[in-house]
Amino acid sequence: MPDTKPLKISRIEVDRDLCIGAAPCVTVAPGVFQLDEENKAYVVNQKGADDETILLAAQSCPVQAIKIFDEDGNQVYPEV
Ligand code: SF4
Repeated sequence: MPDTKPLKISRIEVDRDLCIGAAPCVTVAPGVFQLDEENKAYVVNQKGADDETILLAAQSCPVQAIKIFDEDGNQVYPEV
């Protein structure tokens, strides 16, 4: 049986060592991601967009610096 459980995001992390400040995450989900003075993204609000938008934002990152975890603490993006 495929796992059809809907995605429930519980935690978002930005790997600031990877982030290159390309900012599509900010464009897709400005309520969640903003750039700081070092031009690196950080999470302003873990619940600043719906889960689909947050996932889209993570997928838009060219260096996969955004990690997403579900409510069980499993990393759902990037796939491990
Ligand atoms: S899309 Fe990725 S590289 Fe660009 S600002 Fe966001 S986290 Fe950083």
